[in-house]
Amino acid sequence: MAEKRDYYEVLGVDRKATLDELKKAYRDLALKYHPDRNPGSKEAEEKFKEITEAYEVLSDPQKRATYDQFGHAGFGPQGFDWRQDFSRVRSDVDFSDIFGDVFSDFFADILGTGAGRTGTRVRRPRGADLEYRISISFREAATGTERTINFTRREKCPVCNGTGSKSGKGKGVCPTCRGRGQIVSQQGFFTFAQTCPRCQGEGTVITQPCLNCQGSGLVRVPHRLQVKIPAGIESGTSLRLKGEGDAGSGDSSRGDLYVTVFVERDTFFERHGDEVVCTVPVTVTQAILGDEIEVPTLTGKVKMKIPPGTQTGAMLRLRNLGFPRLGGTGRGDQLVRIKVCLPQRLSRQERRLVEEWKAVEDINAYPEINKFRDELMRR
Ligand SMILES: [Zn+2]
Ligand SMILES: [Zn+2]
Repeated sequence: MAEKRDYYEVLGVDRKATLDELKKAYRDLALKYHPDRNPGSKEAEEKFKEITEAYEVLSDPQKRATYDQFGHAGFGPQGFDWRQDFSRVRSDVDFSDIFGDVFSDFFADILGTGAGRTGTRVRRPRGADLEYRISISFREAATGTERTINFTRREKCPVCNGTGSKSGKGKGVCPTCRGRGQIVSQQGFFTFAQTCPRCQGEGTVITQPCLNCQGSGLVRVPHRLQVKIPAGIESGTSLRLKGEGDAGSGDSSRGDLYVTVFVERDTFFERHGDEVVCTVPVTVTQAILGDEIEVPTLTGKVKMKIPPGTQTGAMLRLRNLGFPRLGGTGRGDQLVRIKVCLPQRLSRQERRLVEEWKAVEDINAYPEINKFRDELMRR
């Protein structure tokens, strides 16, 4: 094994380099030595692996600390070997973070997505599922609504017609594995065969990438879609729009679009299944004498009679003014919770009347208080 170079030297950065400086150094070098920009060059490929390994270690605070203290020896007798596990490297290094969306596809092609493996052959994964989040008002959740959403999704590149290659001919023999789909490496007594990381076991790669899509065959395109939100939807529900996600590479199928709907809180209403609950404050005289009160509902205001002697906490029912029953027919009810309020201050006249009332008040008119006093006497 050749002597490993110092990681800081490999990336051409200071030992005190910040993560941003590391990122920038890696991006510049990776764009220069990327195998697809240097087709067939063994030297560029080695260089690319070397800088990626250096970046993989130094961008991870824990690995960097180990390296700073022990050097390459900190990763065992072989040093740090990223080639043992390509998929892990890809998950650790966020390429889209470094290169933006344009290049993440590019790198996904080289390092593999890890999905859809069948033996050493890898089927092209279908297009990615996308998620779009929207919030709607409480009332819209009750009545159902429609939203126009604008988002970008991947479509077949119009320049290369989705082939990813400049010539339009598509793929050529993979130079890394010479078309075998596997590479074999020796470690001590053991021989490891692993899926070729460059071609993902297909044996073919794009050697002359299309400039419009960087070889991915896909480009991001703005898209507008009308989404119907059904009445009665609960907050956090994801609506699946089949085939509205990213296009897949080659002839694989499109991903789906999930529209996740959040329902905003309402000052008046709480939801309990298909029933809606609203608390309405009334005065003590309204509660005693009964009255007609105004109540908000999901579809506007209604007048409602409260009977004489309505207690605080009483639940009155307004039929069929709740949420539509999902999957069923009709609607739930609205429940009106009465809250009896006491005056915060009294005029002289009010006080006199209340004092007169107290003098003639019949305690037997309060069943709850009577019951309480009976219980208390038995103790
Ligand atoms: Zn293209
Ligand atoms: Zn290959």
